[in-house]
Amino acid sequence: MNTSILSARGLTKQYGATFALAGVDLDILPGESVAIMGASGSGKTTLMHALAGIVTPDTGSIAFATPTGVVRVDQLDEKRRSQLRRESFGFVFQQGLLIPELTAVENVAIALMLGGTPRAAAEASAAAWLAALGLAGLEGRRIGELSGGQAQRVAIARAQVTGAPIVFADEPTGALDSRTSADVMGALLHATTGQGRTLVLVTHDETVAARCSRTIRLADGRIVGQRQDAGPLSAPPAPQPPYPVAQQGQAYPPQPQVQAYPPQSQVQAYPQAGVVPNGARS
Ligand code: ADP
Ligand code: MG
Repeated sequence: MNTSILSARGLTKQYGATFALAGVDLDILPGESVAIMGASGSGKTTLMHALAGIVTPDTGSIAFATPTGVVRVDQLDEKRRSQLRRESFGFVFQQGLLIPELTAVENVAIALMLGGTPRAAAEASAAAWLAALGLAGLEGRRIGELSGGQAQRVAIARAQVTGAPIVFADEPTGALDSRTSADVMGALLHATTGQGRTLVLVTHDETVAARCSRTIRLADGRIVGQRQDAGPLSAPPAPQPPYPVAQQGQAYPPQPQVQAYPPQSQVQAYPQAGVVPNGARS
């Protein structure tokens, strides 16, 4: 039985004479954290962008399991891919994704507002996520008034606030010192796999990769090595409201049709007013 949330087969992507992807097969289970490693130019970003529907592969397939069936990411037109990214995927990049002119809470709320959530509700959800990530009191700061680690926590909050079942992170700690990197990585893991979500992360940092349940290594657009922990399927900490994921006591890993992929109407209900997630600080 294929329980993958993402399943890629035979991915290739060529730029001129270069094969950025030269035949990649990859299955990712719900709740896994997968680190993608490899030398510069080995195809890490291209692989992540293909999985996330940012780049269309030349050949091969990408299947994303949703509550309503399997979506072939590679076959969507640009409009549907953009909708899929907005509703189902969260993104954390090294830098550049946050809008410097906006405050922390606005940067997070915008992810919900793009999906139609009214501003007040979006900002309430955003504030709860910022608090969960240890940023209570800093909601009104502009991005430039935050440290690098704080800004990355804002980016993590933005990637979580829609309830996206999969978060893609490209060198999320690449610009941080090792201590801050460890803190941010802890926050990222807690906010994703700690809530039953799936994390796909590109990193150069062995320490960061070691905290993921699996590492795949790329060279010249191919997977050349893997490390797998005892299992990504050990039970994560019980989810706590307002995280829009599986209920306590539910079988793990949560099937995609369970709350791990709430429709927008449900996402807007999170978090309940005044409820601050517990224990999301790390
Ligand atoms: P990594 O993230 O591992 O550094 P990338 O996926 O960015 O690697 O790139 C893989 C290869 O594809 C490199 O040789 C890179 O130069 C090439 N490449 C990636 N994106 C493009 C692009 N948009 N145009 C041309 N070449 C590209
Ligand atoms: Mg890259």
